[in-house]
Amino acid sequence: MKRLVLLGASGSIGIQTIDVIRQHPDLYELKAYGVGRNTGALRKLLAEFPVECVSVQEESDAAELRKEYPHVRILSGEDGLNELAAMQDYDVLVNALVGYAGFAPTLTAIKNRHDVALANKETLVVGGELIKKALRKYGVSLYPIDSEHSAIFQALQGNRHEQVKRLIITASGGSFRTLNRDQLKDVTVEQALAHPNWSMGPKITIDSATMMNKGFEVMEAHWLFDMPYDRIDVLMHQESVIHSMVEYIDHSVIAQLGAPDMRLPIQYALSWPDRFDLFEEHPLDLAEIGTLHFAKPDTERFPLLKAAYDAGTKGGNLPAVMNAANEAANLAFRNHEISFLDIETIILDALNTVVYRSVETPEDLESADSWGWGYALERIDSLK
Ligand code: MG
Repeated sequence: MKRLVLLGASGSIGIQTIDVIRQHPDLYELKAYGVGRNTGALRKLLAEFPVECVSVQEESDAAELRKEYPHVRILSGEDGLNELAAMQDYDVLVNALVGYAGFAPTLTAIKNRHDVALANKETLVVGGELIKKALRKYGVSLYPIDSEHSAIFQALQGNRHEQVKRLIITASGGSFRTLNRDQLKDVTVEQALAHPNWSMGPKITIDSATMMNKGFEVMEAHWLFDMPYDRIDVLMHQESVIHSMVEYIDHSVIAQLGAPDMRLPIQYALSWPDRFDLFEEHPLDLAEIGTLHFAKPDTERFPLLKAAYDAGTKGGNLPAVMNAANEAANLAFRNHEISFLDIETIILDALNTVVYRSVETPEDLESADSWGWGYALERIDSLK
């Protein structure tokens, strides 16, 4: 029986993690969980999975809930998330938070010697170096939930790291993969939120449309699999059937295929090295799909992908600044404050403006994050 703490329980990955737990009540036990502002979802969870401790984003919500649930410890804010991650009586932290907010609880869990199943890629984008150091120091493991990284993790099983030639991350191209630069000028939030293959949360769906998500996944792969950037390639693959691949030095390429369903990578992150049954409504049927397509990514059409390689290679505060500018611009686009192409302009300008600094501590990340947010908010204000 694995005891889990789940952060981001009411989001897209959180809900699917709960579904995996529901399918295997004999294997997984929820010890505690956190949601954001969705207190309705929290009430339902407490009815189905009674636990001693939960966390919400707002202290005002926590105060209300304490009256309703006098026997449950109800925490709030960043401290609440860190307190859940620091609990002693559990085995794996499932981090399904969105954005930089996921970094601190990941680090806290590692320092308390808990393994982490990571859906929050921003943890590694902003603080990959600090997380890697902590993993070594405390001797715990990080398991990828991101589908591409789960695919690579699966394709690496039984092989030697030093015999890997390169990682090949596949990319669907997001909601606007068939549009040219000119057509991208007037796209709406609603169009951007309609991803052709995957059903995901709003932030990551926009990140997919800008290809920022793929850029972050390159950085994530760099840290997860100790791979230099020049040995990580992105391959356009519109069907999202091959979730990613590993090429070895003998040019053998091993791919992982599956239906676009996040429950598989979630479950594998928890079950590795075992595999367990998983109910799948529409298992992969290659004969029905018939044809798979592949193409090189167009880095002029998707400048953020190239910029992510550059920021990742230079390192220091640049990935954290890139992430912060993206979080602010992504949100502003969803709030109809800026246009779709303004997102990339703001991020690229932030990277061209920021002064490079090395990152030695979580405080260094904090200041890179606030600089990125500050810069982006100013630009957003001028564009409104
Ligand atoms: Mg992914």
